[in-house]
Amino acid sequence: MTAAGETQTGERRLHGVFIQVELDDSIRGDRELARKLAEACPVDIFKVGENGVEIVEENLDECVLCELCLDLAPAGKLRIRKLYDDTVLERT
Ligand code: SF4
Repeated sequence: MTAAGETQTGERRLHGVFIQVELDDSIRGDRELARKLAEACPVDIFKVGENGVEIVEENLDECVLCELCLDLAPAGKLRIRKLYDDTVLERT
């Protein structure tokens, strides 16, 4: 009478990444910007790496599109690409 194959893992995340953060090469090495981005992003998508701004890939899908990172980066140098509808958020 037990349901064979039933799991208790709960909700599964869909496979795949829906958000991409694109950094211009000119800001990648900016550790001060990396620090500000890491501090501002509510879901820890940025971290300060040895070479500057690093993206925490496993957190990308947590992006809430708050645009705080866009306000911190120089205009046009950081873009949030929504892969599911191929639109881009950026400051110009
Ligand atoms: S839009 Fe907000 S949540 Fe998404 S990467 Fe930028 S700061 Fe983080």
